[in-house]
Amino acid sequence: IVRNEMFGQLTSGLEAAWSKLKGEEALTKENIAEPMRDIRRALLEADVSLPVVRRFVQSVSDQAVGVGLIRGVRPDQQLVKIVYDELVKLMGGEVSDLVISKSGTTVILLAGLQGVGKTTVCAKLAFYLKKLGKSCMMIAADVYRPAAIDQLKILGDQVGVTVYTEGTEVKPSQIAINGIEEARKRKIDVAIVDTAGRLQLNKTMMDELKEVKQAVNPTEVLLVVDAMTGQEAAALVTTFSIEIGITGAILTKLDGDSRGGAALSIREVSGKPIKLVGRGERMEDLEPFYPDRMAGRILGMGDVLSFVEKAQEVMQQEVAEELQRKIMSAKFDFNDFLKQTRAVAKMGSVSRVIGMIPGMAKVNPAQIREAEKNLKIMESMINVMTPEEREKPELLAESPTRRRRVATESGKSEQQVSQLVAQLFQMRIQMKNLLGVMEGGSIPALKN
Ligand code: GDP
Repeated sequence: IVRNEMFGQLTSGLEAAWSKLKGEEALTKENIAEPMRDIRRALLEADVSLPVVRRFVQSVSDQAVGVGLIRGVRPDQQLVKIVYDELVKLMGGEVSDLVISKSGTTVILLAGLQGVGKTTVCAKLAFYLKKLGKSCMMIAADVYRPAAIDQLKILGDQVGVTVYTEGTEVKPSQIAINGIEEARKRKIDVAIVDTAGRLQLNKTMMDELKEVKQAVNPTEVLLVVDAMTGQEAAALVTTFSIEIGITGAILTKLDGDSRGGAALSIREVSGKPIKLVGRGERMEDLEPFYPDRMAGRILGMGDVLSFVEKAQEVMQQEVAEELQRKIMSAKFDFNDFLKQTRAVAKMGSVSRVIGMIPGMAKVNPAQIREAEKNLKIMESMINVMTPEEREKPELLAESPTRRRRVATESGKSEQQVSQLVAQLFQMRIQMKNLLGVMEGGSIPALKN
């Protein structure tokens, strides 16, 4: 299949994976083996870095095998959703906004190798910020290529943004300092400093960049990288991050026949977000990087995704309602604890389900996140409790012997068991409190 869409090859590569699950009734270790190989191959062919591919595939298979199927959703559709969620996570989850101060002149430093599209990005970025209502100035601190300065001036005229230059005889750091002073004088919102690009990364370039950075103390230091260079772009971001200290990357030429390796590797490899992407040669072809939209485009299965999400929501709603009934009846024991947290964990976020219970939206999100993290530890302790202990947590509160036994059998400390017991009572009270059905419950002191 020939595709013109971005990452078309990756999309078709992944499609092979879903197609192998048609007719299956569940996701099992056996039947996902081949689709996982397809996914792995598709990512490697897209030039995603190998360690990233390994972690990605591992994480997707772990989730796929453990997942409780959502009613009405086919296994292949559910795998699409798992891959989608992982792709979004891989690319950083949320959009990472540019930091622009509310007052004063914000300084953005642009760096990048020659030919990646840095000069173009400089003007595009000015145009983009102008559309957001910010006044801009571009500062030409690339003193090695007079042509680059001319090009920037032409683009500046095109987008109606002043270009500050001092020719090629002044030191870049000095030009940057002077330019920013001028921008401050004129009460410009954002000064974009275009630094020199070299054909190859070398010490002179790094040293000069360090000097400029030190001189102007920028809010954003953005490395412009070319999507066509795949995982190499991710390696560059890492190097600049370590050597210079950058706040993020701008990925250009995503419209070309780039395979996706850069977009998918940068965040995971370097720890730095992609903040903006260039998708064409026109000035308006620059936009924020939305991991969710990007993942959606890669999969090209918008309808499947929204269908699975709806089904997921219905099920989360049901779990939430069940949880609410338990709370209202003031009977919430370790069985419920286990059942609910497991069900919820399989479907995604505990906080989302909790948020669906009226009155529970106020539960401290940090507490919930902590609970999500501790889930595995808690599960292992609950697993070794006797049926009565699960139903009557009081038994554990009253007997240090029982708590010690649970600790030994689960390989956890007595303190962890005590904490878990206390937590259950605390949850009962908190929930009742929040729902306004509190009738003087209390946390029993654990007997020693
Ligand atoms: P610099 O050497 O890094 O300053 O690169 P330039 O800004 O001069 O760009 C190099 C070439 O890439 C030019 O021909 C640009 O038109 C082109 N270019 C830049 N950004 C994009 C993009 O997002 N998509 C496409 N297709 N071409 C781009």
